[in-house]
Amino acid sequence: MTVQKTILEIRDLELHFPVRQGVFKKVRGHVKAVDGINLDILKGEILGLVGESGCGKTTLGKSILQLIRPTNGNVIYNAKDETVDLCALSDAEMSAHRKNLQIVFQDPHSSLNPAFTIYGSLQDPLKKYGVKSAKERRRIIGDLLEAVNLRRDYMDRYPHEFSGGQRQRIGIARALLVDPELIVCDEAVSALDVSIQAQVLQLLLDLRAKRDLTYIFITHDLSVTEYICDRIAVMYLGKIVELADAEDLYKNTLHPYTEALLSAIPVADLDRKSNRIVLEGDVPSPMNPPTGCPFHPRCHKAIAKCKTHIPEFKISVNNDDVNHYAACHLLDET
Ligand code: SF4
Repeated sequence: MTVQKTILEIRDLELHFPVRQGVFKKVRGHVKAVDGINLDILKGEILGLVGESGCGKTTLGKSILQLIRPTNGNVIYNAKDETVDLCALSDAEMSAHRKNLQIVFQDPHSSLNPAFTIYGSLQDPLKKYGVKSAKERRRIIGDLLEAVNLRRDYMDRYPHEFSGGQRQRIGIARALLVDPELIVCDEAVSALDVSIQAQVLQLLLDLRAKRDLTYIFITHDLSVTEYICDRIAVMYLGKIVELADAEDLYKNTLHPYTEALLSAIPVADLDRKSNRIVLEGDVPSPMNPPTGCPFHPRCHKAIAKCKTHIPEFKISVNNDDVNHYAACHLLDET
């Protein structure tokens, strides 16, 4: 992989939903779904965003693409010919950039109209971006179906005629229709059988190489990120708690939350079973996060300071890899 430049610079990004109660619908608090994210996405990389359900990873992905507008912060997009802050754009201005920044959902069924053939569903984005000739639209869709290892003539079939893996390939083809630079893959393989997962992951890797793509790969499954990601950001309660090159994250895990997630990966080695760290309880409410380190009520390594002081997200000075960051008081203890 050749890393050329930073394609997205995410700065102090927040998405706080107001919680209204009572007859007058007064604002009683805020759900901090995304809470002060700073992150660079490098061109050509696959950045994994991982964490339990409810940690804010999907909301962060949608905020980056402006599918849900953030309440604060900036997403600086270094496009081929200009640099823009996506958060400062109107909806109309954003739609001009939408083609470059696409998303693949977990359930491709939801983006395919069951009443339309695949051609019927996929031709709309092409029409929107000016491909007027039906013959040309058929050619482009046929080429893309072949690019995702499906037959051209599948474009005349209906969504219910495909397996889950085939539908996900069609979802990927749909995202590729307008030749994007970056794709957010939101749990894109989570609903697939393991053998089909491997095929779709390999397809994503092949397409990255052929089309110079960048991916933000959102998943709750750290065994998948190991296979596909260059870097991994671990999220907890709307914040990034650890960020590192993928290999380093697995070898030199710094944050106890990441440790717990990694320990839950099923392995053939029976000895690993005894090392499983069971996370007690659910993710706390992002409306009333715990004091100090938000992870402290569930942390198996918590010390007294953790209840009162928020750990700084900082680089690990004790680690050879200068790209390894974490938010944990234990970094100061070693
Ligand atoms: Fe656990 Fe404390 Fe580190 Fe938080 S700061 S992850 S509670 S050890």
